[in-house]
Amino acid sequence: MEPTLLLAHTEEDGTLAKPALEALSAALALGGELTVGLVGSQVQPAAAQVASTGARILAVTGAAYAQPRYATDADAAEALCRAANASLVLAPSTSRWARALAGVACRLGGRIDTHVTRLTIENGVPAASRWFYRQRMEGVLTRSERPWMVLLESGCAPAFSATPEIAAVEAVEPPPHATRTSVEGIRAPQAGQETIRPDAKLLFVAGAGWTKKQPDGAIHTAEAAELILGFLGAANASLGGSKSLVDLSGEGQAVLPFMSHLNQVGQTGSTPRHPKGLSTCCHGEEPHVVGWRFITERRAINLDPNCGWARGKADVLYLADAFEVMRELNRALNRGEAGGASS
Ligand SMILES: Cc1cc2nc3c(=O)[nH]c(=O)nc-3n(C[C@H](O)[C@H](O)[C@H](O)COP(=O)(O)OP(=O)(O)OC[C@H]3O[C@@H](n4cnc5c(N)ncnc54)[C@H](O)[C@@H]3O)c2cc1C
Repeated sequence: MEPTLLLAHTEEDGTLAKPALEALSAALALGGELTVGLVGSQVQPAAAQVASTGARILAVTGAAYAQPRYATDADAAEALCRAANASLVLAPSTSRWARALAGVACRLGGRIDTHVTRLTIENGVPAASRWFYRQRMEGVLTRSERPWMVLLESGCAPAFSATPEIAAVEAVEPPPHATRTSVEGIRAPQAGQETIRPDAKLLFVAGAGWTKKQPDGAIHTAEAAELILGFLGAANASLGGSKSLVDLSGEGQAVLPFMSHLNQVGQTGSTPRHPKGLSTCCHGEEPHVVGWRFITERRAINLDPNCGWARGKADVLYLADAFEVMRELNRALNRGEAGGASS
């Protein structure tokens, strides 16, 4: 097996986050000689996390590498690749690496593949799997060009975990490079307002039915918002939406104000990975359900016995009024009786 370099940037506290630990597991599974290349303002905690693997540890450290920035991230990755001289370079598909590593592959005369979901050895050479055409077809690629850089999607490998040990770290210094970009700060939603939680065990999908006339002839969007947010808070679920629902919000109508196109699941939306999914007031049409490809267990609540979920797309369909079900479920969660909802 070829020598492999795992590239990982550290978090503020110097540790490695879950996507990096998953990529480390994938790199170890390949079985070749492994070097770990760390980038960050401090790297000792991360080095201790990976020390038990026995891998050689290289690091680019300094204040300039604390912030995500193309110029410094690309310089750091290039210097680590040259120092490690590995033919296969693996990195977690974080926004930071996704932005910088294509340029690094170009500088090194190599190639890069992104959105890879699995790495295996086929006939003695590494092979990368990824999905094409909005997750409809899986392809397996091998490449002859080296170095071959591979960005691994999160949620595809178990996160590496071991007792931290004292680790020897070899410092690598990229050549000095003037940067024009200074990071002034980060704008993020206020704590508690973030509804997209990739690590949640449950995906809760809201469809346009929440904003439609209900059997009493009236629209109940305020109650819909309260029920959905109440459930998300109580079950710590991630929020997805159908295209019809997020398009309504985009038009500035007084519908569910916390839904945006970032929540959209489906062919023209995202393909999240959660162990379980619960669809509510959503018809389950193919362009939506194709985004559920990686949801292991699917349940849906719909009033219509002929909805798409009923035609083999859900494991369980509750033919029921989602307002009534969610009202009751939230009550049970608040009484601590429905712990299973979040697990
Ligand atoms: C090229 C293309 C790409 C597309 N990409 C996407 C995509 O990425 N994602 C996506 O979602 N869609 C996508 N669509 C649109 C998709 O085909 C559907 O139009 C859309 O998913 C419908 O959204 P919906 O099910 O929420 O709304 P509707 O079709 O309006 O369904 C609402 C559902 O709510 C149910 N309902 C109403 N009240 C209640 C209640 N009280 N309790 C329980 N159930 C209730 C109704 O029975 C109905 O089934 C795409 C379409 C095209 C042509």
